[in-house]
Amino acid sequence: MEKNPLHRQRSTKVVATLGPASSSDEMVERLFLEGVDVFRLNFSHGSHDGHLANITRIRAIEAKYGVPIGIMMDLQGPKLRLGGFVYDRIELPTGAKFRLDLDPAPGGEQRVCLPHPEIFAAMSKGTELLVDDGKVRLRVDDCGPDFAEVTALVGGTLSNRKGVNVPNAVLPISALTEKDRKDLAFGLDHGVDWVAMSFVQRPEDVMEGRGLIGGRAALLAKIEKPSALEHLNDIIRLSDGLMVARGDLGVEIPPEDVPMAQRRIIHACRKAGKPVIVATQMLESMIKAPTPTRAEASDVATAVLEGADAVMLSAESAAGDFPLEAVAMMNRIIHRVQEDPLFEARRDAETLALQDSGADAITSAAKQVAKTIGASAIVTYTSSGSTTLRASRERPNVPIFCLTANVSVARRLALAWAVHSAVTEHAKSFSEMVEKACALAYKNGFAGHGDRIVITAGVPFGTAGVTNILRFAVVEAPGQAARTTLS
Ligand code: PGA
Ligand code: MN
Repeated sequence: MEKNPLHRQRSTKVVATLGPASSSDEMVERLFLEGVDVFRLNFSHGSHDGHLANITRIRAIEAKYGVPIGIMMDLQGPKLRLGGFVYDRIELPTGAKFRLDLDPAPGGEQRVCLPHPEIFAAMSKGTELLVDDGKVRLRVDDCGPDFAEVTALVGGTLSNRKGVNVPNAVLPISALTEKDRKDLAFGLDHGVDWVAMSFVQRPEDVMEGRGLIGGRAALLAKIEKPSALEHLNDIIRLSDGLMVARGDLGVEIPPEDVPMAQRRIIHACRKAGKPVIVATQMLESMIKAPTPTRAEASDVATAVLEGADAVMLSAESAAGDFPLEAVAMMNRIIHRVQEDPLFEARRDAETLALQDSGADAITSAAKQVAKTIGASAIVTYTSSGSTTLRASRERPNVPIFCLTANVSVARRLALAWAVHSAVTEHAKSFSEMVEKACALAYKNGFAGHGDRIVITAGVPFGTAGVTNILRFAVVEAPGQAARTTLS
């Protein structure tokens, strides 16, 4: 049997956003071949037809190469925006007085519409509003239910529909707008694997998302509000994964606070065993240049060293001039870090408390056994994916090859550190379980002739939530006896 060279040996995953620069059959295939594990569809942009075309492309590539690929839809969320201006834009000098109100008439030098009554309800004297990614700062001097008199602490250009952030107010708004609900129904109908929720503020927001998703996809909470940081552990508990959404987070909190917030979020997710993505501006200069700055290369490496499950490209792959180069660069940086002894030492020094469960007992033992016998992979049988995630949480020194009968589980796990999946029916007997693990590990390139693998499974076979078997085995190429045996 031919090995499948497309299963990667890389532990940290690459998420790439599709957009005008990458929405073609050829580009999706080439991005996948360069190293994309999960494609992100950004519902702040594009039409449903455009997103559907990309979903169809991704599934075609998946079928062609036989590798499960994750699709993440990213909902726009309650992004607040100014209304429009008569002459499209104004210059607001520093120190100038200005007025925000609910009047939909186009704005001018004195006022503009801010069409969100909830913001007026939540603000008070002294509240700061940030416009256009924080480029303009407005302080509220006086306000009522339908207006705010403000002073420009930092002036600049205000133009049509620019974004507004209100960092220090918890806004009484749902994290899902009407548009989000329509987009979500569309995405679920077309089988997306992950749903990312933007501007989550409270655990209740995640609960609301969970209710609407109803188990049809995994839920990823984007951490980009100070209030989300305050409720971090509850949000993690209710989510299937997290994103360190550094773009808006770096507007909502001072940029100097972002690096340690990133570490804190990653560590909390590592403890909980939930996948975590580091996102935004990772290779930003590659939007216009074929190579990154040294600082950007270092930023990707830092996320890998900190133990993130995945790193993400936004405009670099969606709208830049060098999408393929950006993916290839991330792939190479991750390989360099992962192959360095310093990385191995850090990974092995990290110990996380185990839960009193069969999955933790067996997967932590599997990591030890794999190391002791020099195994080439850990093969995990899973129904729901939960055992495989616990194996990933252990951060073993070999790839985790996940066997599941459920294609959605395989696709979701594309985001998880070191997990590579294949879809197969559950084994019916113990010997079939071992033979299948060996044959598929060989076929997919996770073990060669004579290599050892460690297998975890549960009897009765195919029962969700049961992991109680640890077995090791020697892989044989079809038709050849193994050179070595294990006793
Ligand atoms: P966005 O989210 O690109 O959808 O805004 C990511 C971020 O804010 O970093
Ligand atoms: Mn954002």
